[in-house]
Amino acid sequence: MKHVDPAKKIVSFHPPQRTLMGPGPSEINPRVLAAMSVPAIGYLDPAFVGMMEELKLLLRYAYQTENPLTFPISGPGSVGMESCFVNMVAPGDKVIVGRNGVFGGRMIENVERAGGKAVVVEDAWGEPVDPNKIEDALKKNRDARVVAFVHAETSTGCESDAKALTALAHMYDALVIVDAVTSLGGSPVKVDEWGIDAVYSASQKCISCTPGLSPVSYSERVVDFVKNRKEKVHSWFMDLNLILGYWGNTTRTYHHTAPTNGLFALHESLLLLHEEGLENAWARHQRHHIALKAGLEAMGLKFLVKPQHQLPQMNAVMVPEGVDEAAVRRTLLSEFQLEIGAGLGPLAGKIWRFGLMGYSCRADNVMLCLSALGSVLADQGYNVKVGEAEAAAHNAYAAMHAKAAEAKRKRAAA
Ligand SMILES: *Cc1c(COP(=O)(O)O)cnc(C)c1O
Repeated sequence: MKHVDPAKKIVSFHPPQRTLMGPGPSEINPRVLAAMSVPAIGYLDPAFVGMMEELKLLLRYAYQTENPLTFPISGPGSVGMESCFVNMVAPGDKVIVGRNGVFGGRMIENVERAGGKAVVVEDAWGEPVDPNKIEDALKKNRDARVVAFVHAETSTGCESDAKALTALAHMYDALVIVDAVTSLGGSPVKVDEWGIDAVYSASQKCISCTPGLSPVSYSERVVDFVKNRKEKVHSWFMDLNLILGYWGNTTRTYHHTAPTNGLFALHESLLLLHEEGLENAWARHQRHHIALKAGLEAMGLKFLVKPQHQLPQMNAVMVPEGVDEAAVRRTLLSEFQLEIGAGLGPLAGKIWRFGLMGYSCRADNVMLCLSALGSVLADQGYNVKVGEAEAAAHNAYAAMHAKAAEAKRKRAAA
């Protein structure tokens, strides 16, 4: 029999052009794509080392911190999460974890795998982590060493009060681990002002870089704890004591091969954030959230989360009765090249999640999304007047523009 090479059928991979409005990855600015399409250089090349120092500076700006140990871990957000727990939780340590969605659940898993004991504080999916419940847990568990929670729960679109929760934990002498994967770059994350001890994020959400990198920042308190641990950190790759040899300030020795071109991309995306200005980026996420929300609500869709806890970058709405939620997502993708997110866990089939993250957070995406969704919902027999949602969003933008112009006039007159 003649040998047939099945690999002969394989041709170059060219992904379709999509509009990404799901829970991440977000779209990538062309400048970032260009920055990574360059030759690799060595991870100890002096030019590379210079770029690493700039990356640390840009990340300190994004996190609003002076922490020297602020750098991107080579791995997705999940590795950043694991790095915090495996370094900061020694066997037998008690950790209070707030769970109000998928990612709080993963924190519990991390505590247990690090040999710690998780004290779980539950809140409903779609509600923030309740500071009163955390304080109760702290009172009942005076030996708790760490409090961990998700700042921006991507599975529900709910924001928790990271500042208040951190202050509480410190009153009881516990260190704080904050998941800022979805918040960083999209809404305020003030590491030093809020006193956060350890924080991690991911490159592909509001930072709008390629996936696979996890910016982290550790306070001196954390570094001291890890340096003085009796037992070695259970992960060789994530042991901060070893990573310091590569990302620290003094030495520069081989630890692992840094993902060079991914880091070039991160450098460019953080530079874009710096050029825009953090406050302006936060305001942009808020502005497009308000317009998208006006449109979605004009279609009769209801948000899962109460207005005061809604994340601008992640909008979860209830799927109306009688609508085939998966078919809507499928059609949006096949007909409109638009990706939105589904519900997870207990919210599977019940919500859609509309991301407005980083470079995806733009007026053209808001308008496309409302128009496409209106069209698909109308096709499904849902009572929606196509055009009303877009009109509501236009009106919201117009009102915001008028307000901004008025504020500018007042400033000029003053
Ligand atoms: C996406 C996400 C993660 C995981 O990040 P990956 O890059 O997918 O590993 C963790 N926490 C939150 C809140 C997220 O949204």
